[in-house]
Amino acid sequence: MIVMKFGGTSVEDAKAIDRVASIVKGRLPQKPVVVVSAMARVTDTLLTMAKAAGAGERKAALKLCRSLQERHYNTASELLGTARFTEFHSELGTDFESLDELLRGISAVGEITPRTTDHVAAFGEMLSSKIVAAAFAARGLNGTHVDSRDVLVTDSAYMEAVPQYEETNAKLQERLQPLLDMGQVPVMGGFIGANRAGITTTIGRGGSDFSAAIFGAGLGADRIEIWTDVDGILTTDPRICPEARRIKVISFDEAAELAYFGAKVLHPATVLPAIQKNIPVYVLNSRNPTCEGTRITTRAPQGKNIFKAIAAKKRITIVDVAAPRMLLAHGFLRSIFEAFDRHKVSVDVVSTSEVSVSLTVDSNQAIPALAADLAKLADVKYEGRKAIVCLVGESLRNTPGIAALVFRELADKKIRMISQGASEINLTFVIEEDEVPDVIRRLHKTFFSELDPEVFA
Ligand code: ADP
Ligand code: ASP
Ligand code: MG
Repeated sequence: MIVMKFGGTSVEDAKAIDRVASIVKGRLPQKPVVVVSAMARVTDTLLTMAKAAGAGERKAALKLCRSLQERHYNTASELLGTARFTEFHSELGTDFESLDELLRGISAVGEITPRTTDHVAAFGEMLSSKIVAAAFAARGLNGTHVDSRDVLVTDSAYMEAVPQYEETNAKLQERLQPLLDMGQVPVMGGFIGANRAGITTTIGRGGSDFSAAIFGAGLGADRIEIWTDVDGILTTDPRICPEARRIKVISFDEAAELAYFGAKVLHPATVLPAIQKNIPVYVLNSRNPTCEGTRITTRAPQGKNIFKAIAAKKRITIVDVAAPRMLLAHGFLRSIFEAFDRHKVSVDVVSTSEVSVSLTVDSNQAIPALAADLAKLADVKYEGRKAIVCLVGESLRNTPGIAALVFRELADKKIRMISQGASEINLTFVIEEDEVPDVIRRLHKTFFSELDPEVFA
């Protein structure tokens, strides 16, 4: 069997869902399990309405809810035709009634917790997966909706819940295997699950890719396909650099670094379950389904280019911790990291000197509280609006003199921190956030003007 995951833009309207149906039809002999995201931008809207309700702005929240309802009804009616839609209408109606009620409850209390946020956010994938399953059935595809919350078991860390693999795998066998054996096409929402008490959770933004990989690994899939709106993993973000080209094949390690350092095309955790089971992952374009996309495998040819791709992660803050008297005394680093741990702030890049440590963190984390805590140990400064740029490629390991090549191109830029990752396959540095487009375009021109056809398309 295979897992096919379709992202938000791939299910954004009736036309897109119709394309999905024909793509899946072409794969029927391979026994697909289909995983879908919420329709494009729906999760953002749901989170906005949850926040509005939490701020007591009931009217605003309900108005957004109405607009979502209309969009989902229109899409379903266009896909299903009158007779089928009449039947399906009440199912969607019940969901929107629950959402409505939920929003009224939240605004009455005037407080939004991570737990209720997940309740609201889950509607996106719940609705899209039901519509896609119904659209499949209407096209003779034997689509069966399976509620992911009955299958994906997580802990209770709402909004960033951690999958519990053993229980999830058991449920996958129990719920999905029989459907596959009967020749049905299970359709599930990504991103959502439930804890052991059955309370709805979500596994983090962009998490539908991760859901697909969890399901694929749990079911022992032959391949996992991530269908999106670009031809595959490209040499850089095409929105920044339109010259970006497709990477035909990339290793799990390289893809993981890229995803972690900001290549939005893949959720950072996606490849882990696939690596463990050695299941190849493909990134494909639902608007251009005949394109071969990108294949992610354990070992990939390196080709003649040093790098495979460039990624950038914005909204980064640098935290400088200076301890003039301690000269990085024994135990100093430990106490710094303990503070980060206490505040549950994760660190991306670290550089140390005799008297100070610089660390980068995501700007949206609890930095003021952390800084106050660190100030008990040392002098602390922090500065936002930074970005991490990351060049990735396994050839980096065996090619001397690369850093000189990279930084010669950026001689006029203020480079804040440099690190050649422990994995030896990335070269990472920190710059001002507004320099990202210029830096990426320059590096892309230098390293990707001539491409080895073995690796790039
Ligand atoms: P989906 O909704 O299908 O999950 P995403 O929006 O999460 O899609 O990811 C696809 C987007 O990722 C692309 O439209 C592209 O703009 C962006 N992107 C960033 N870096 C890359 C890259 N290196 N290769 C391809 N796409 C990238
Ligand atoms: N719908 C969720 C999000 O927008 C999950 C996903 O699309 O992967 O974050
Ligand atoms: Mg995505």
